[in-house]
Amino acid sequence: MRDHGDAIDDTSHVRILVVEDDDPIAAALTSGLAREGFDVQRAPTAAAALNALPTDFILLDLGLPDRDGTELFRALRAVSDAPIIMVTARGAEEERVAGLDLGADDYVVKPFGVRELVARINAVMRRVASHDLDALTTQSLGAIDIDRRNRTVAVNGKRIACTPKEFGILEFLARDPGAVITRQELLDAVWGPHWFGTTKMMDVHVASLRRKLGNGDLIETLRGVGFKIVANPQ
Ligand code: CA
Repeated sequence: MRDHGDAIDDTSHVRILVVEDDDPIAAALTSGLAREGFDVQRAPTAAAALNALPTDFILLDLGLPDRDGTELFRALRAVSDAPIIMVTARGAEEERVAGLDLGADDYVVKPFGVRELVARINAVMRRVASHDLDALTTQSLGAIDIDRRNRTVAVNGKRIACTPKEFGILEFLARDPGAVITRQELLDAVWGPHWFGTTKMMDVHVASLRRKLGNGDLIETLRGVGFKIVANPQ
């Protein structure tokens, strides 16, 4: 699961595929990105790139020995929705325009530094994360509709009166149906990271929320661990 929006500056679990045939450039990128915490894999050819999937992020040098860059771009796009940053040669204006037309998320021009690249990667990831959240603005789970923009909940089309904490719990659990959310994660998300105290009151809010939803099975309690919202409620 996505780490609830704040993962974008924590690159520790982000897999990045560096498609680059030039060994010295690839080595510099691989070590630079690894230092930034990325989980880096390198592919020196188009064939190796396609074999290295899945990944979370692709850095694609368009000039490869075994296949045309735009063709490889299309092939990658067809099987992966990982964001792609193109690496182009200085002066290759047409290549850049073609790449952006194809749907590249951004491009960098050789030579470029790892710092610049990481800034671009972070910007792209932030953009992708905010799109993901937009898609989650309204969400239906069985009979329940969650409207994050208005912070309202409806059951079978009828608005129910949730308290802010109840809404916060429901909305947060619903971001990843089927996933176990620990009490600490829920506490940080709904009460804030600076809230110190027991998590006992959480059970009171959850119980009240269950009652209002009219469905005791939608939110499961995992004793000693946390909660989860069922993925495909009746
Ligand atoms: Ca090349």
